[in-house]
Amino acid sequence: KRVGRTPLMAGNWKMNLNHQEAVVLVQKLAWTLSDKRHDYGKVEVAVFPPYTDIRSVQTLVDGDRLDIRFGAQNVSTHEEGAYTGEVSAGMLAKLGCSYVIVGHSERREHYGETDEWVALKARIALKHGMVPIVCVGEGLAERREGNHVAFCTNQVDRSLDGLTAEQVAGLVIAYEPIWAIGTGETATPQDAEEVCAGIRAQLEVSYGGEVADSVRILYGGSVKSNNVAALMQEPDIDGALVGGASLQVEEFAAICRYY
Ligand code: PGA
Repeated sequence: KRVGRTPLMAGNWKMNLNHQEAVVLVQKLAWTLSDKRHDYGKVEVAVFPPYTDIRSVQTLVDGDRLDIRFGAQNVSTHEEGAYTGEVSAGMLAKLGCSYVIVGHSERREHYGETDEWVALKARIALKHGMVPIVCVGEGLAERREGNHVAFCTNQVDRSLDGLTAEQVAGLVIAYEPIWAIGTGETATPQDAEEVCAGIRAQLEVSYGGEVADSVRILYGGSVKSNNVAALMQEPDIDGALVGGASLQVEEFAAICRYY
């Protein structure tokens, strides 16, 4: 792996755990990792609770000086004003969010998020000092047709529209094949590497080698403690976006300690 791309293990809780359960999980996670002497310098750990939990997680992380980062699963395309039900990037930054997940396939699928929206959200997150985790990934149809690499590199291209090379250099991209999310069907390390390498090659064409080299690319889709190590062996996979397994403390801790 390239030096400087610190592996990131990101737990996407989705719409699970209320704020009390969130505090319990983060406390147990910190305790488990400290017990097992996790090397935070070697692997960065982040959790992505629902909006309503973030304040509680922040209080715990700050109060106990935990070496765990946190972020949001989504952000508004608007900065402030009459947008009922929305949460702004400024609000999330104020709570100490380091990251914002943008363009998760569940949001693209159920809420009609387009690449344009994803790019707008990425720009707004960056403007407020947070790092967007830009999600892309093909469905089963594209995979069967053999178009998966082109599909994903196109998604990356359009989802980063309007970002400067300097901004792209600090990004995290998550490759999550839709057919592998929540299905128990992980992409093989070779399948995942093929697309992650394709994404990095595309970044090199668009932004140059130095930028492409510094972007962290995560794999997501049924990552478990028993498959993470093999995925992390691949040269272009710099971490994991973990859904289901991030809700189980021992399992997520084991993923964070894959090395
Ligand atoms: P999963 O979800 O690990 O439950 O497959 C991953 C994701 O959607 O981020």
